[in-house]
Amino acid sequence: MNETDVIIIGAGHNGLTCAAYLAKAGLRVKVVERRKAVGGAAVTEEFHPGFRNSVAAYTVSLLNPKVAADLRLADHGLRVVERRAQNFLPAPDGRYLLTGEGRTKASVEKLSRHDAGAIDAFSRELEAIADVLRQFVLRAPPNLVEGFGVGAIHEALNALGTAGILRKLSLEQQRNLLDLFTRSAGEMLDERFENDLVKALFGFDAIVGNYASPYAAGSAYVMLHHAFGEVNGKKGVWGHAIGGMGAITQAMARAARGHGAEIETDAGVREVIVEGDRAAGVILDNGVTIRAKYVASGVNPKLLYTRLVPSGALASEFLDRITRWRNGSGTFRMNAALSALPSFTALPGAGDHLTSGIILAPSLGYMDRAWQDARSQGWSREPVIEMLIPSTLDDSLAPEGQHVASLFCQHVAPELPEGKSWDDHRDEVADLMIATVDKYAPGFAKTVIGRQALSPLDLERQFGLLGGDIFHGALTLNQLFSARPMLGYADYRGPLKGLYHCGSGAHPGGGVTGAPGHNAAQVILRDHRALFK
Ligand SMILES: Cc1cc2nc3c(=O)[nH]c(=O)nc-3n(C[C@H](O)[C@H](O)[C@H](O)COP(=O)(O)OP(=O)(O)OC[C@H]3O[C@@H](n4cnc5c(N)ncnc54)[C@H](O)[C@@H]3O)c2cc1C
Repeated sequence: MNETDVIIIGAGHNGLTCAAYLAKAGLRVKVVERRKAVGGAAVTEEFHPGFRNSVAAYTVSLLNPKVAADLRLADHGLRVVERRAQNFLPAPDGRYLLTGEGRTKASVEKLSRHDAGAIDAFSRELEAIADVLRQFVLRAPPNLVEGFGVGAIHEALNALGTAGILRKLSLEQQRNLLDLFTRSAGEMLDERFENDLVKALFGFDAIVGNYASPYAAGSAYVMLHHAFGEVNGKKGVWGHAIGGMGAITQAMARAARGHGAEIETDAGVREVIVEGDRAAGVILDNGVTIRAKYVASGVNPKLLYTRLVPSGALASEFLDRITRWRNGSGTFRMNAALSALPSFTALPGAGDHLTSGIILAPSLGYMDRAWQDARSQGWSREPVIEMLIPSTLDDSLAPEGQHVASLFCQHVAPELPEGKSWDDHRDEVADLMIATVDKYAPGFAKTVIGRQALSPLDLERQFGLLGGDIFHGALTLNQLFSARPMLGYADYRGPLKGLYHCGSGAHPGGGVTGAPGHNAAQVILRDHRALFK
């Protein structure tokens, strides 16, 4: 009899985190993963003979420090190093901005004295709000429940706790918080800064994975979402996992297995078994049935409810609403094998800037035009690209003297207009991305000796990221906090008894954080103890 306490659908980093906590608490846990490797969107693979790189997610900051410590990821081999510079933004006119510890202000000063005076205040403003929001990351948001039972009392207390945390903000900070949740990043940045590159530095975070103009209402929240993180105790800093993002998920898998969890790859779930009003297990693509007391899903909620749970098991209002769950990041991801490092016109030769996130998007107007183009034509004539060259920090990825680059390209349409298919346009768009880098670093194209290109359709096919959505659902106000994935189901419990959400479609959303996996595990354990005490 194939039977266990908990079955987890998907060995993404959240599924693995959830598995590790549950197994540690003594439950029998089985994780089933459709792909041949664990890790979901956080994996390292060889994409060209001798060249390995993080295939999708490519840079670390959001990984929750408590999760990393509880799972003893460092003991399981994870080492994260800081970039030597944080960001490099070259402009076509030869000017540039280079940020990082001890260098940001001087670099901004060369562009605008006004902005050099304003940047610390804005960074402090973001940091103060991020500090408070960090306290929400590892707790279930208040869930809206009907009636006055025990659940309602629990949620009322949760809401009081939430209000208590928010009260730590001054009135002015609460006003800023409201702005950051509702306004456009573009408007907020235009009010504070005058230089295009300085605005682009912050504005880029507002459109990462967010198929929208930086002037779209709500884009300021996406900017804030990217400020939650830290590396080795340094807040707001981004770094690199030695061995690529797969090193994080390999360490998580070791932690989960170490506590007794079983992980099976090449084991896609075809259907969630529903008996009455309860999830009772899964049927795999190969026909094998596994029964469980609890089923936790680490996949996109729309994928779960429209493809894996039999539609007859769900109330029609629930199904209607989750069918309208908004996916679609508008990102195109490339990995390039390089025979040599690029040299940028704005800052030629080697240097710390080549270890940074190199942002090719010199103004908010450029980002806005990229989005408009993608809406009308499928991709932008001048795309937004962040390029990282992780081999400048990690010699395990490429042969000696050679390099790998990650290109994270924003603003391609999740679905092309006029019924066109990404299968027919992938190479054309990949060429455009390489040519765009070449404009800033002439000669770059000639150094590309191998490449991998993933369109939104490829991201969906390979990882189950519907519409290529890197967050398992847009980070818009109607899909955040108590509304993630839906008002009434924000406590990691789904509409069927025994069914839980442990992936990025639950609070606090996407990014390699481990937070939804952690939070779901706490709820499953609470329910288990209540049932079996
Ligand atoms: C191109 C790209 C770049 C990104 N860059 C970054 C970055 O630099 N830093 C960062 O922090 N975040 C980044 N992200 C976001 C981050 O990677 C994701 O939000 C995060 O990895 C999601 O983790 P998860 O565990 O919730 O889900 P996933 O990683 O999506 O895992 C879900 C798993 O479920 C599996 N699955 C799907 N269907 C089934 C089924 N039927 N049966 C069994 N298994 C199934 C999938 O194969 C997958 O392994 C990026 C994402 C993408 C796509």
